[in-house]
Amino acid sequence: MDYPGNLIVVAAPSGAGKSSLVKALLELDSKVQPSVSHTTRAPRGQENHGREYFFTSQEEFDAMVKAGAFLEWAEVHGNRYGTSKKAIEDRIAQGADVVLEIDFQGAIQIKQIFANAVLIFILPPSWEELRSRLERRGEDSPEVIELRLKNAAVEMAQASKFDFVIINELFDRAVFDLKAIVHAQRLKFSAQRRARSDTFKSLNIG
Ligand code: 5GP
Repeated sequence: MDYPGNLIVVAAPSGAGKSSLVKALLELDSKVQPSVSHTTRAPRGQENHGREYFFTSQEEFDAMVKAGAFLEWAEVHGNRYGTSKKAIEDRIAQGADVVLEIDFQGAIQIKQIFANAVLIFILPPSWEELRSRLERRGEDSPEVIELRLKNAAVEMAQASKFDFVIINELFDRAVFDLKAIVHAQRLKFSAQRRARSDTFKSLNIG
C-alpha cells in the first residue's frame, strides 16, 4: 500500500544516541510526528502515560496482541514493546511522516508490512565511545553496561538489513544526516507526483 506519508524507522543499540537524534529531528521538522509505543515496563523518572509510552499491564498487552492491534511488537531487555496500528495507519494515510524509535526486531517486522518504510540504523563511532557514553549516562550498574554492550553486538550485526546507516560521531552532523534522509523521501517520484500534481500534469508526466 502506497501511503502519502512516510514511515521512518530508527533503531540503534542503547547508548548510540538514538533518542537525542530523534528528538532533534522532531524539533526541527514539524511535519514529522512521533509514534508513541505501548510497553509493559514501568515509567521511569518524568515519563508520562501517552507522551513517552502508553504504559500497559501484561494483561492489556496480551489482549492487544490477541486482537491484532500491533503492527509489530518485540521483547526488549525483558519488557514488551509494541507499535499500535491505529497510531500509524491513519496518520500516514493523511500524509504525515511518522518516526518510529524501536528496536531492530520491530524495524524488520515493519519493513515486511510496509515495503516503503525507511529503516535507519544509528551506530556509535567505536566500542570505546559506546562504552564511555553508557558510563557517562550514569543510569546503569557495571553489570548492566556489560549486558548492554553484549546486546549491542547482537543488534549491530543486523545493521545490513537497514536502508541507511548514520554514524553518530558528531551530533550535529548526525542530525543533518537524519534530516537529509527524511528530505530525500519527500523527493521520491511518487511523493513529488502527489505533492506537485499540477506541475506534473502541466508537464505531461504520468
Ligand atoms: P526504553 O525502555 O529504554 O525506552 O526502550 C528500550 C528499547 O525498546 C529501545 O531500543 C526502544 O527503541 C525499543 N522500543 C520502544 N518502543 C518500541 C516498540 O514499539 N517496538 C519495538 N520493537 N521496540 C520498541
